[in-house]
Amino acid sequence: MTIHAANFRELRLDRLCRDFGSHNAVKDVSLTIGKGEFIALLGPSGCGKSTTLNLIAGLLPATGGGIWLDDRRIDPLRPEERGFGMVFQNYALFPHMNVRKNIGFGLKMRGVARAEIDRRVDEAAALVRLQSQVEKLPGQLSGGQQQRVAIARAIVVEPPLVLMDEPLSNLDAKLRLEMRAEIRRIHNALGATTIYVTHDQEEALSLADRIVVMRDGAVRQVGTPEDLFARPEHLDVAEFMGFRNKVAGTVAAVSGDEVTVTIGDASLRGRLREPVSVGAPCWVAIRPEDLHMAASGQGGLEAEAVSTEFRGREFVGFARMADGTDLSFMAADRIEPGAKVALAAEPDRVLVFGGGR
Ligand code: ATP
Repeated sequence: MTIHAANFRELRLDRLCRDFGSHNAVKDVSLTIGKGEFIALLGPSGCGKSTTLNLIAGLLPATGGGIWLDDRRIDPLRPEERGFGMVFQNYALFPHMNVRKNIGFGLKMRGVARAEIDRRVDEAAALVRLQSQVEKLPGQLSGGQQQRVAIARAIVVEPPLVLMDEPLSNLDAKLRLEMRAEIRRIHNALGATTIYVTHDQEEALSLADRIVVMRDGAVRQVGTPEDLFARPEHLDVAEFMGFRNKVAGTVAAVSGDEVTVTIGDASLRGRLREPVSVGAPCWVAIRPEDLHMAASGQGGLEAEAVSTEFRGREFVGFARMADGTDLSFMAADRIEPGAKVALAAEPDRVLVFGGGR
């Protein structure tokens, strides 16, 4: 294969900012991305992911900070001068051009010779497994095939960086899973460097080498999928990563990173994620998958069962504590609404953060 990613060492965002009037959509974002990495920008709607990607692409000017590709400052450059490949949610294919012409468009604009365009288009089409479709118009293709054309068009110019903004969100669930695997396969095959915007934590966890979690325009945490999954550094990151049970408590004892928290009449052991002092209020975060009915005499959080949902292998139970806190947990059987339950989790799966009410 001769299509490959352009050479560079790293892309560096240095205190990048973008204001819209008085609204700071991107605040002091600093990040270094190495060649070959697959980076996911992850966060809830409005957190500034797309704005950050558009700043990197050059579609929006920054209002502060800079962007560097190795030793070259690139934020003053126009998008076409940066030469990054871009793939968006809505494909943005030319409807009157067939697949071959759509894929080859960028090469033609760059004045590449016809024979070279044909060769590279054939290769890119093969890479996205569309060899047999190149004479078709976009309207004759499925959504997944159109997205493959958009990917081929982005990579055929051999860009240093491929930027993707929620590229799978218009596809149905099954196709999304297939294309997810395809995107990672293509990234590996090319030795590409990819920055991928998503609000879907599962997508980020399964695709990325490193995840950048954003909130309110700022970077909250950068880490490997394993890191973010098991060791979120802030309560909001934990909640976003699936620690859906958030319970207010009081710190009873701290020893190293082991902490004991009092919640009502119960006491729960967990791992410290932020500094706390004994006697101070705190938050406890637990994934529903890690919260189970406690064995009798084991203690645990006391709550009243509200409902149970069947999920195939097991049940998910919903319960409410006396102070109104809702809990989701795993159950082996249906539980009668109104039944008293006591819920517990392994200390390693209980994260304790500062603050609280
Ligand atoms: P989503 O997943 O919903 O696209 P996002 O994390 O990508 O969200 P951005 O699109 O980057 O978020 O938007 C960040 C913030 O900046 C939002 O509050 C948004 O309303 C605001 N914003 C984005 N573009 C503009 C604009 N052109 N003018 C004014 N405000 C904007």
